[in-house]
Amino acid sequence: MKWIGRRQSGNVEDRRYMSGGKKVAFGGGIIGLIIFVIFYFVGGGDSSQLVNELLNQGTATQSSNIAVDPAEDEMARFISVALADNEDVWNQVFTEMGSTYDEPVLVLFRDGTESACGFAATATGPFYCPGDQKVYMDLSFFDELKTRFGAQGGDFAVAYVLAHEVGHHVQTLLGISGKVQEQRKRLPEAEGNKLLVALELQADFLAGVWAHYTQKYKNVLEEGDIEEALSAASAVGDDRIQKKTQGYIVPDSFTHGTSEQRMYWFKKGYTTGDLNQGNTFDGI
Ligand SMILES: [Zn+2]
Repeated sequence: MKWIGRRQSGNVEDRRYMSGGKKVAFGGGIIGLIIFVIFYFVGGGDSSQLVNELLNQGTATQSSNIAVDPAEDEMARFISVALADNEDVWNQVFTEMGSTYDEPVLVLFRDGTESACGFAATATGPFYCPGDQKVYMDLSFFDELKTRFGAQGGDFAVAYVLAHEVGHHVQTLLGISGKVQEQRKRLPEAEGNKLLVALELQADFLAGVWAHYTQKYKNVLEEGDIEEALSAASAVGDDRIQKKTQGYIVPDSFTHGTSEQRMYWFKKGYTTGDLNQGNTFDGI
C-alpha cells in the first residue's frame, strides 16, 4: 500500500515505551506515598512537593534506556496512516447513512498493558475493547503471524488486521455486537459460538469494505496487497490456529471461522463495498 507522506491518524496512543518506565514510576509512587504518610502523621509538614519530585524522578527515567527499533517505528507510522484511511472510509459511510462515526483509538503497546476489557498481553493478539472503544495491538504480533502461522506478511497484512478490529468498532456502533451478546445469553454454548463466528466473519467483511473504498477513492493499493490480506486472513483462521497450537480441530469452539470463510467474507466486502451484502448471520 502506498502510504509515505499520507495523513497519519491523531488517534494513536503509543504506549510502546511505557512498559519499562511504568514500573519505575510506580516504585517512585509507592516510596512517595510512604514518605507522604510519614510526613503527614509524624512531621505535619508540607510533603506534597517532595512527593511530586519523587514521582517526577520516577517518570523522568522512563524512556531513556529503552531501545527504539526503527523497523517497528516505521510500522507504527504505517499503521497510523492505515487508521486514518479507516477514519476516512467510515466517516463517509456513516454520514451517508445519516449517522456519525465516533473514531476509535489505537493503543500500541509492548508486552502488556491495561484495557477496560482487562489486561492485554502480547499473546492475546490484537483485539478491540468495546468498553473503552480502543483497539489494542502489540506490533510484534505481526512477526508471529509470519513465523508461527505462516502468513506471507507484508504491510497490507497489518492493514487488514487493523481494519478487522476497526470492523468490530463499527459493529459496536451499529449495535450488532450488543445484540449478539444479548442473544448468546439465551442460547446453548455451541449455538452462541456460531453467532460469535458470524460476528468475526462480518468484521472480515467490513475490513474488505474498507479496502474497497480505500482503493476506490485513494487508489493506493499495490500489486499483491489483496493477496497479503487473504494470506493473513487464512493464517489466522481458527482451524489453522488450532492446528498449530493443539494439533487438532474442535469445530464447536471456533470463534473466528475457518480460513476459507474468512477469505470469502473479506473478498466479498472488497469486491462489493456494499454493507447490505454483509449479513454473515444468514443461515446459521
Ligand atoms: Zn475479531
